[in-house]
Amino acid sequence: MRPEPQAAPYRPDPAILPLAPWLGDPVAAADFPGTTIRFRNHRWDRAVGLDRLTDAEWERHFGRFEPLPGNLPQPLALRYHGHQFRVYNPEIGDGRGFLFAQLRDGEGRLLDLGTKGSGQTPWSRSGDGRLTLKGAVREILATEMLEALGVNTSKTFSVIETGEKLWRGDEPSPTRSAVLTRLSHGHIRFGTFQRLLALEQADEMAQLVDYCLAQFPGPLPPQDAPGREQPAVILLHQVVERVADLAAAWMVAGFVHGVLNTDNMNISGESFDYGPWRWLPTWDQGFTAAYFDHGGLYAFGRQPEAVHWNCGQLAVALRLLADAPPLIAALERFGPLYMAAVARRWCWRLGVEPKGGEADMALVAACEATMRDSREQPDAFFHRIRARQLVDGPVKDALAGYHDSRYARAWWREEAPVSLLIDEVEALWSAIDERDDWRPLHDKVTQIRRMGEALGPVPAPAGHG
Ligand code: AMP
Ligand code: MG
Repeated sequence: MRPEPQAAPYRPDPAILPLAPWLGDPVAAADFPGTTIRFRNHRWDRAVGLDRLTDAEWERHFGRFEPLPGNLPQPLALRYHGHQFRVYNPEIGDGRGFLFAQLRDGEGRLLDLGTKGSGQTPWSRSGDGRLTLKGAVREILATEMLEALGVNTSKTFSVIETGEKLWRGDEPSPTRSAVLTRLSHGHIRFGTFQRLLALEQADEMAQLVDYCLAQFPGPLPPQDAPGREQPAVILLHQVVERVADLAAAWMVAGFVHGVLNTDNMNISGESFDYGPWRWLPTWDQGFTAAYFDHGGLYAFGRQPEAVHWNCGQLAVALRLLADAPPLIAALERFGPLYMAAVARRWCWRLGVEPKGGEADMALVAACEATMRDSREQPDAFFHRIRARQLVDGPVKDALAGYHDSRYARAWWREEAPVSLLIDEVEALWSAIDERDDWRPLHDKVTQIRRMGEALGPVPAPAGHG
């Protein structure tokens, strides 16, 4: 069984406060006409000691944003810039969200509770600061499916319906509103660093680097890495390692994030901020999720390149603190790390122990070619191979000599494949929209979590214990 998140007591630690004067702006949540709980994450509330809250307390904290005891006295709308579709935009920042609270888990790691749809802030521009209920439902589904597929993702902690009517150009309107709270290891974005470069705030950037190194610990750069004792260089190495793995994880999941702007890239390496995401209906490198992504910049097969490009922008920002050569050396690790992560994660999803090197890459290539040529839906393909329902051909040949992993077991033969294609997402939403029937959504989450248990945990890369 996949280890459940470990229960831990509530341990507030607003570690961000010393940085708050230049990192964010104190704001207040909108005064919503209603607060109806629609989703409480019972996998993760226990990991931060908030599982004992009554529904009334939950509504006060995650609908009214009454501060949690000993936590941030007031929500903080975070300041950042970012490249959006490769165009630099200094006018963004938390326009409909804020950092609400910070807590330690049982292992002492820092976690943020951040919001989406909690009202206007100094960074809202012409926006209403709100989130549609459909957007919230989509974020529940994306985070649950990604977590099950072993992707390092933010968790949807809470969704509360807020009783407002919203008007949106890309949803039938008026539409229902919600406020979502997410749990993740920080909300420091690549764009947070880009803003400090733009303002030439070197002292603040040095503080932020120290905060990231202290709060999201990681390994030191390789022995032969130039400048490996400099904090900014260490941070870039850690970020490159994390996001190379993240890009690989999306690819093996068959997931298209849709909007890989630098303000949507977390230093912690967690995938987050789910808008127009899709899962692949067929294995197609050119498949694009966002209807507004006309050039296919963030198409399925271009995600690794997009993430690498974003790392380049982070390196440009870190030039405020470090010379170029050690930063370039860190960036150059992306490709090999990405390839190794694809092989490791692909074997995990197929339920085999990696052999390492060429053999794993040949296995990946055989699977890709088979999915491309047959147009078999990727989740169905992975499920079938995991159940060892093999037909003669390149995948069967490539699998010869591989050993089954501990988690390759009967579940795969007895259950149907679990996917999350757009038609099903729309049907789950329609049940809520038309009949206020939340059952199909909750059943789907249960089914996704069962698949996650059957997949088991993703093995760590070699050399990481
Ligand atoms: P996103 O595409 O969700 O990553 O958002 C990009 C920027 O637009 C961020 O600064 C958001 O805070 C802001 N934004 C998106 N939707 C809204 C909204 N409804 N009201 C205010 N700001 C928004
Ligand atoms: Mg965003």
